[in-house]
Amino acid sequence: MAIDFTLTPELEDIRTRVRTFIDTVVKPGEEAMGNRDELDRAEYITLILEMRAQAREAGLWLPHMPEEWGGMGLGHVELAMVQAEGAKSRMGPWVMNCQAPDEGNMHTLLHWGTEEQKERYLRPLCEGTAMSCFAMTEPEVAGSDPTLIQTHAYQDGDEWVVNGHKWFISNAHRARFAILIARTEDDPDLPQAANTAFLVDIPSEGWTEVREVETMHGSTGHSEILIEDLRVPADRMLGGRGQGHLLGQYRLGPARLAHCMRWIAQAETALDMMVDRSLNRFSHGSLLAEKQGVQWMIADSAMELYQAKLMVLHAAYRIDNKLDFTSEVSMAKHFVANALNRIIDRSIQVHGALGYSTDTPLANMYQHARWARFADGADEIHQMRIAQRTIAAYKDSGSTRTATGDLPV
Ligand SMILES: Cc1cc2nc3c(=O)[nH]c(=O)nc-3n(C[C@H](O)[C@H](O)[C@H](O)COP(=O)(O)OP(=O)(O)OC[C@H]3O[C@@H](n4cnc5c(N)ncnc54)[C@H](O)[C@@H]3O)c2cc1C
Repeated sequence: MAIDFTLTPELEDIRTRVRTFIDTVVKPGEEAMGNRDELDRAEYITLILEMRAQAREAGLWLPHMPEEWGGMGLGHVELAMVQAEGAKSRMGPWVMNCQAPDEGNMHTLLHWGTEEQKERYLRPLCEGTAMSCFAMTEPEVAGSDPTLIQTHAYQDGDEWVVNGHKWFISNAHRARFAILIARTEDDPDLPQAANTAFLVDIPSEGWTEVREVETMHGSTGHSEILIEDLRVPADRMLGGRGQGHLLGQYRLGPARLAHCMRWIAQAETALDMMVDRSLNRFSHGSLLAEKQGVQWMIADSAMELYQAKLMVLHAAYRIDNKLDFTSEVSMAKHFVANALNRIIDRSIQVHGALGYSTDTPLANMYQHARWARFADGADEIHQMRIAQRTIAAYKDSGSTRTATGDLPV
């Protein structure tokens, strides 16, 4: 039986190189930046570009892309290892050019783009000379149900004319192009087949950034966009008519798992900090690490992190082996997002007032972790789908076994 969790020497080497790179280049680089909000934008860009040049030189660039596109050519299991090391620092994924949403957009373009589209849009992303965004969610309708999308496109000669309203479009402020999802089919056979994806250059007449939405972690590039009579050439359609949902699902599987890989890094950082604090804080006659109440928090966090890692590795294995991964990615996304929130919360608890302050990264991590439970599929949507698949498996075979990872146990 071929279940083996050891890494080949080559992979162990990559993992060590990523770890060393993050510790010796990215973390000191972040420290040199200081408070990002107070930093001059030009200075900030210069620092990032310098770190990116070093990542390329070190062969730690685009871990998720094939070698012919300048990437490291890793599979998803291997990627899990790299992302979980890279995300130990906030800027790690940016420096290695595997950050959301560009990473998911690169996968999408690689799979769905025509040769011309790849040259025009994928190439600059891979070279790190452009950024992109993915525009689907709308303020007026539930983002959880893409069949409700109201942004509408109609064909006019060689062009499509789009009108609509989007928000929470990450990166839109700085993106050179968007993958825009709009309704093109008024009466599709399937409700999911109403939407189509388009590649939109930014800036374009008819594409207006209304504002960067202020969030609980600041105003950090999730924009509201008004689309008025935006004209998109017909050859900028990505995939076929009515394939927007399919494309979104294709994009979201690996992209959700990549989020999980980065969340594992964040959860591990929070647990490391929890243990470190408990070994250095004394109260009522002993260290916090010796209190049973604190040990329970450490134990629960360790068990959850272990489950998170196994789920991510198994879902990645299924993607790599061309097995259906929908359920496994869904379960991993739900579990890891929630585990992350609980682990950071416990770490803050053990740190007391210090954890609530901005003297440690925990407060910032907590604010970011909160969106993990509803963006890219809200908890309840994943639970609904997981339950549907579990019931269907039982109806089909008299057992729920295939719905619980289809594992040989
Ligand atoms: C930081 C951040 C970045 C984002 N980046 C992007 C981006 O780049 N591009 C983009 O297009 N979107 C983006 N989004 C939007 C995100 O994808 C949506 O928030 C998400 O899809 C949920 O849609 P919604 O906010 O409209 O919530 P709704 O769909 O209104 O759902 C609200 C809540 O209702 C409940 N709910 C909904 N449906 C059901 C159901 N069927 N059963 C039970 N409960 C249900 C859930 O609890 C859910 O959290 C981002 C959001 C955030 C916070």
